[in-house]
Amino acid sequence: MKFEDQRRKMVETQIMNRGISDEKVLSAFLKVPRELFVPEKFKHLAYADSPLSIGNGQTISQPYIVALMMELLQLDANDKVLEIGTGSGYQTALLAEICSEIFTIERISILSVNAQKILRELGYENIHFKIGDGSLGWNENLKFNKIIVTAAAPSIPQSLLNELDDNGILVIPTGSKFMQDLIVIKNKNGEFVRNNYGGCTFVPLIGKEGWQM
Ligand code: SAM
Repeated sequence: MKFEDQRRKMVETQIMNRGISDEKVLSAFLKVPRELFVPEKFKHLAYADSPLSIGNGQTISQPYIVALMMELLQLDANDKVLEIGTGSGYQTALLAEICSEIFTIERISILSVNAQKILRELGYENIHFKIGDGSLGWNENLKFNKIIVTAAAPSIPQSLLNELDDNGILVIPTGSKFMQDLIVIKNKNGEFVRNNYGGCTFVPLIGKEGWQM
């Protein structure tokens, strides 16, 4: 089956059938070629219903969990988004399809460099990249409407709460190194309201406000 057909099937069976209905999220998924973000040897699995290895002990997440996190963020075209864990750059591309400005941080430089190359080749001009410890936030006195963390933290990093704008939303997997809950935090004028969207499994967030190496 052609990649385009596999993409359409993935959106129908793995994402829409599991209840994701945000049109902006669905059309981003239909547009971004996931096969470009997975290693050559896994291209035939690019649209599988599972995470895949991207090297350096890291993964590109399962499409459904990526879609769920994006729906929970209630993304808007005017949003300034902070993403912690660039990884392959796939989710960065999806965010860049929908929102005006994306700021993405990855601690493993080779992953960031690879992601930057693909995303530039695809023509995205609304993405800012940083290599470093994203548990400390962007750290340039900026506030974000939405913050997404694609690695699992032991608790919510205070630095990320500090960078969440009024009415902003933070989505972050939190728990042990091996099993977490997907937590959504809304900043209601300085009061952080927390909701739990159930179990998930992510690679650890390694950093000062994450797990130590
Ligand atoms: N969303 C990514 C994608 O579409 O490929 C998948 C990200 S992967 C599940 C999580 C990423 O978070 C890994 O690439 C890992 O190196 C990165 N990471 C872990 N701790 C980090 C930190 N403190 N700062 C920035 N990135 C971190």
